[in-house]
Amino acid sequence: MAFDLVLFGGTGDLAWRKLLPALFQAFRHGTLPEGGRILGMARDERTDDEYRAFIKERFDDVEPSKRPSDDEFAAFAERLFYRRMDLSRPDDYITLRDWLGERPGVPSVLYLAVSPSLFPVVCEQLGAHGLNHDGIRVVLEKPLGHDLDSAQEINTIVRRVFTENQALRIDHYLGKPSVQNLTALRFGNALFEPLWRRESIASVQITLAESLGVGTRGDFYDGTGALRDMIQNHALQLLTMIAMEPPASNEAHAIRDEKLKVLRSLKPFDAVSVARDVVRGQYRAGQINGQAVPGYLDEVKVPPGSTCETFVALRTEIQNWRWAGVPFYLRTGKRLATRDAQIVINFRQVPHPIFPGAAGANRLVIKLQPEDGLELHLMAAKGAGNSDALTPVRLDLDFDRAFSGTKRVGAYERLLLDAIGGRLNLFVRSDEQEQAWRWVEPILEHWRTDPQGPRPYAAGSWGPASASALVARDNEAWAEEQ
Ligand code: NAP
Repeated sequence: MAFDLVLFGGTGDLAWRKLLPALFQAFRHGTLPEGGRILGMARDERTDDEYRAFIKERFDDVEPSKRPSDDEFAAFAERLFYRRMDLSRPDDYITLRDWLGERPGVPSVLYLAVSPSLFPVVCEQLGAHGLNHDGIRVVLEKPLGHDLDSAQEINTIVRRVFTENQALRIDHYLGKPSVQNLTALRFGNALFEPLWRRESIASVQITLAESLGVGTRGDFYDGTGALRDMIQNHALQLLTMIAMEPPASNEAHAIRDEKLKVLRSLKPFDAVSVARDVVRGQYRAGQINGQAVPGYLDEVKVPPGSTCETFVALRTEIQNWRWAGVPFYLRTGKRLATRDAQIVINFRQVPHPIFPGAAGANRLVIKLQPEDGLELHLMAAKGAGNSDALTPVRLDLDFDRAFSGTKRVGAYERLLLDAIGGRLNLFVRSDEQEQAWRWVEPILEHWRTDPQGPRPYAAGSWGPASASALVARDNEAWAEEQ
């Protein structure tokens, strides 16, 4: 299937660090459709060959197993082109129209890997140049707004020119194989679904922990913070995948409808519940893997005295029949003890324990990062001596090992192939995105006027002590404390 993929911002960090390496992997795996062309666009003047050389040099920074040999790159680069274009100049869209016009009828994906401040002019000019016909899809990268108003503003602009099915909002967490396995686990197996409800599940924890700090992007991060950067999008998307009702089919609209219902059922926050159920933190100096690291306020480009949160933990509930009363804890942070993204489903204790020893409860751990796998924690008899005491054991499924020999795809690779193929399941619909903003708004509002500011935590820890207290109130503990 022939396609044209245009990368606006084709020389930027996102393009050369994530998108082009992912496209190369698809090429290496033989899944990038034949007859595809990839066009990088930015304001610099370059020839096709200069662009290819620029990208080849950048590929040296890609992890070795994903780096192309010279021959592989040469074959991949035959699909790579470059045109100069200033997205803020209407006349420059003629260059794009002409390039796409070389192959009429070929479906095109326009990836906006540029600042969202350019989205309005880009949408307007694409429309003005007739580049919004049925054969065109646009991919929108985060951040899609910084609050409900700005998200709605962007969506209004996009909707004026494109239909909902033409506008693909990326949340790269949805491209992770383990997230796809989450739906497979729930809806491809009869085992779990009967247990997937308040009667059997005591609590759910979603942790997206990073051990890195803000690096050199302190100025960007300070205007964003952990709530907008991770909770509003990635953590809430994961929550919807855990909590949604079985969709009628695997079609995009069926899945998105169910996810939206979950977002609409989230217990709304008010000033009292924000103060009680949301913990915000900011890292201080500490140690990560034995190395001393600076605190957030000492990072480059972070404004003095910033109250930006680098950590959030919160407790919420889903107000429907399946989940009423079950706490959902979401947690994310920078400079935490380890890089770890996982979802923990804590099952209820047995109603009447008959064995001596640990009264452990079953736990299902869905591991998203760094490994991709599933762990089921069970109680078992050790069979030592004549004791009936039970001990916790783990069934451990490592997907990389289970599917060894299969070329497993990364998140951007999967999402780019889906965008090219017009498969919308793993993209976020505008109403989902707006509902997620609506839900976090009271938290942002409360923090704007809260004199207390974020709680400090040492780099290398698991966040402020109040995050542990948040779950301890329900007689729960975070996974690493259990
Ligand atoms: P970046 O490194 O600053 O790159 C921006 C790209 O846009 C460059 O190619 C730049 O080239 C081009 N550009 C800027 N103004 C332009 C204009 N008027 N006309 C045409 N091209 C223009 O930024 P980035 O890190 O790639 O991020 C791009 C967007 O993706 C941002 O919104 C960012 O928040 C988002 N994002 C980035 C990442 C990531 O890992 N980097 C991850 C998720 C989301 P010229 O200046 O030469 O024109």
